[in-house]
Amino acid sequence: MASGGNDFDNSTADQYVHPLYCLMAVEEADWSGLLAISGRDRKEKKPLLQDVSQNNKEVVAVGLGIHPWKTQNVQSGWEGRLKEALERDPTLIVGEIGLDKARESGKKSWEEQRQIFELQMKLAAELKRPVSVHCVRAYGIVYEWLKGRSAADLPPSVAFHSYTGSLDMAGAFLRLEHLQGSVFFGFSAAVCLRYPAAEAKLRQVLPILPKESLLLESDLDDREAVPGAMNTICDVVAEVKGMERNALAEVTTKNAERFLRRALR
Ligand SMILES: [Zn+2]
Repeated sequence: MASGGNDFDNSTADQYVHPLYCLMAVEEADWSGLLAISGRDRKEKKPLLQDVSQNNKEVVAVGLGIHPWKTQNVQSGWEGRLKEALERDPTLIVGEIGLDKARESGKKSWEEQRQIFELQMKLAAELKRPVSVHCVRAYGIVYEWLKGRSAADLPPSVAFHSYTGSLDMAGAFLRLEHLQGSVFFGFSAAVCLRYPAAEAKLRQVLPILPKESLLLESDLDDREAVPGAMNTICDVVAEVKGMERNALAEVTTKNAERFLRRALR
């Protein structure tokens, strides 16, 4: 499970920058717990939400999916169960799904990853749900997949979470005309600032990304660690973009809402 969006304490952000959480499953075992906190009457429901959300200003979105690290755990019939759950709750997004070449172990596991990813992308397109994509050393494959489809056959929005792709790849995604305005690039301290090389890449890529395409995220499970991680990534991204941190927080909150809009209706 990962959380994204913006989280700031009162001293660092304007009051109208609402914390926004996106909690995402990585395998079917997570779905029921997350379904318990999604849905229209989510406010009355459930410890996880109360834990995450201390007041009503916070927005919680939930994603269901199979992560590329968990493809070996799938039980037959998972696609049908995923579709059913998504159809029952129009606020759900699809995530966290993706492709991870660093975790491939042989041809079979790679084929499985690809199949499971593509099935979920098609489902997200069919049901018009935003998708959060985990991608490691496989951006070219995702690019070809997106490029080969018309806008009508694509999910309404795609966010690369903890983007670690190249400058060229980011430029290629931005030039895909049928995806204009619906591709987002997420940055987290946990992944994008983990090594000097990762931070160097972030500093190289950020200048070409329009501010309307940026998301800040924690990519952490530990609730306590989220505010610090969000402040850290916000400071670095604001510095590279030459923006005030609060202005960046405001823009990225709006971007997160735009990314999730189909799921938060
Ligand atoms: Zn991930």
